[in-house]
Amino acid sequence: MHKRALIVLFATALLAGGAGAWALRAHDGPSPDTNTPEITAMKTATTTPLISKLGHDITPLSPARIEQLAEKLSPADAKIILNKGTEPAFCGTLLDNKKDGTYICRLCSLPLFASNAKFDSGTGWPSFFQPVDAAHVSEHADNAYGMKRTEILCARCSAHLGHVFDDAPQTPTGRRHCLNSASLEFIEKGADFPAAALPISTSSTSAANTQTAYFAGGCFWGVEDRFQQLPGVIDAVSGYMGGKNPNPTYKQVCNGDTGHAETVKIVYDPSKISYPQLLEKFFRFHNPTQLNRQGPDYGTQYRSAIFATDDAQLAAATAFITAQQATDRYKTKKIVTQLAPVAAAGEFFAAEDYHQDYHVKNGGHCALPEE
Ligand SMILES: [Zn+2]
Repeated sequence: MHKRALIVLFATALLAGGAGAWALRAHDGPSPDTNTPEITAMKTATTTPLISKLGHDITPLSPARIEQLAEKLSPADAKIILNKGTEPAFCGTLLDNKKDGTYICRLCSLPLFASNAKFDSGTGWPSFFQPVDAAHVSEHADNAYGMKRTEILCARCSAHLGHVFDDAPQTPTGRRHCLNSASLEFIEKGADFPAAALPISTSSTSAANTQTAYFAGGCFWGVEDRFQQLPGVIDAVSGYMGGKNPNPTYKQVCNGDTGHAETVKIVYDPSKISYPQLLEKFFRFHNPTQLNRQGPDYGTQYRSAIFATDDAQLAAATAFITAQQATDRYKTKKIVTQLAPVAAAGEFFAAEDYHQDYHVKNGGHCALPEE
């Protein structure tokens, strides 16, 4: 059986077993080939980011990304954040916190509340009279347990935060946002914010500060997954490049007659990871000495290739391959990586939606090899 068929079977078994599939359950797993309104909405959301007044990207995260973020949560925190639990009164770690700073979402790091809106409500839970930006906290009617309440959630990742009540006349807004400490992380004034907590203009996702690289190293699921895990890599996209027909389908590429290689487009922040560092990782993530194959996958679509976006990348890649060939590692084996400028290789075509973030969505996550 072909490797992909095996992986699909494995992933299907995982999903059927419901392993850690909170987000996937919530999404109810649409067929990857269909363009449901939900998927179309997700695509629209990713191409046109929603920016809050404070300048943060509050585009709702995909269920797959939320599930990936949720891996860091302890079971107790997951119960509150993902399953709308409530921590016992007077037990949260942030109840008595009087320091100056910002409270960000525990799951996605979006800033939610500031210390200057915190007040002692006497209820036993951290209380704030307003969020830092109204668009960062969404509100939903909650009629559970025979009560009429208003649930509050992180607008970006839908993490459960707590409830909001109109019972605080002593505050400027009269409102009490009643929080679970577990749903928040406190960043003291003067401390560094995580990248995901920064407004878009100063964060690493600013388009002006990015560069692009293209690497083909066998099945793109794994290559995309590994690059996506590197700090400094903003986005990795699976696609097809180096062939003759425009907009090829996966089936056409698999048949091997379009000439495309399964290629990953990498958008990166050169102040955090350099092109030579990406080249080094690329040679760790695949075997550059296998001609027109990679492991069990045979065919020109699995060839090793570097498509350089400019003369600087072409020169760096040429020097890198020459230097690698001279090392002991490749002493007895010839590096067969194809090196071509993008101008000669032709356009990159993103692969079908179901190939993107394949391992994140379906399991079988590729661990980074040891250095
Ligand atoms: Zn969040």
